[in-house]
Amino acid sequence: MSVLAGRVPTPLVEVADERLARHGVRLLLKRDDLAHPDLPGNKFRKLGPNLAAAEAAGHRTLLTFGGAYSNHLRATAAAGRLLGLRTVGVVRGDELAHRPLNASLAGAAADGMVLHFLDRAAYRRKTAPDVLDPLLERYGPAHVIPEGGSNPAAVRGCTALGREIGTAADVVAVACGTGGTLAGLAAGLPPPVRAIGVAALRGGFLTEEVLRLQHDAFGERRGDWQVEDRCHAGGFARTTPELAAFTDDFARRHREALDGRPVERVYVAKALHAVFRLAGEGAFPPGTRVAAVITG
Ligand SMILES: *Cc1c(COP(=O)(O)O)cnc(C)c1O
Repeated sequence: MSVLAGRVPTPLVEVADERLARHGVRLLLKRDDLAHPDLPGNKFRKLGPNLAAAEAAGHRTLLTFGGAYSNHLRATAAAGRLLGLRTVGVVRGDELAHRPLNASLAGAAADGMVLHFLDRAAYRRKTAPDVLDPLLERYGPAHVIPEGGSNPAAVRGCTALGREIGTAADVVAVACGTGGTLAGLAAGLPPPVRAIGVAALRGGFLTEEVLRLQHDAFGERRGDWQVEDRCHAGGFARTTPELAAFTDDFARRHREALDGRPVERVYVAKALHAVFRLAGEGAFPPGTRVAAVITG
């Protein structure tokens, strides 16, 4: 198996935005969306070390979990296609088995992923032996990757993101789903650079989760980081008219720096919006360089 080659380090580009300049804040965009052409989102950083671990264990199959719109499932399927590995995607919601696949799942299936639908009660207990063992019996021995791809290998993989940014910024903002990217990024940043994780989901569980992920990956808390829990716009994949307008406007203003790509709405829009909100609240001293990670 060859390793998945990424286009790293990804570019870090400064953009001029007068709404931040008014507060003395400079904005940089870390274009991590360019890390791999076939893997959506920031999943390249997380999957690379897992593929190495699968190889080391002699596994030819990857088995992982996700919702119907999971970028992680899509990325795992693409990695399997590129590296010639079997992939099994365990999908939340057995009602989906009887409907046409959405574009995300259809893409995963086209990449060769076997989709296995679980009812929601079983999915909640997906790593319990009575749920997982029958799956492994059915599909054979596999390297099992948790939902969202956040395990110790993935967290360690994300430290490279922090090292790449280094001291080119004072503060780094990143959107959080499972928190694995924040856990690794914060560990990779050189002090005194700090990270702000912007929760894209509601629930207020992320601080505890990132602590757990860092303990599993490093045995201790690492880096200077905090979670911003006020910018999820109502929950996962939710938006508000204000956030939607901000996102469209941001894409228009910074079309060139984004290569004309739209701003990803589920995660990236919320991280960018949080930077503007915090700047407006005076959270950054004048002269602060804020890098926003464009995770997808
Ligand atoms: C998956 C994903 C995230 C969240 O990453 P976590 O490590 O789960 O916090 C953020 N942005 C994009 C675009 C993603 O696809």
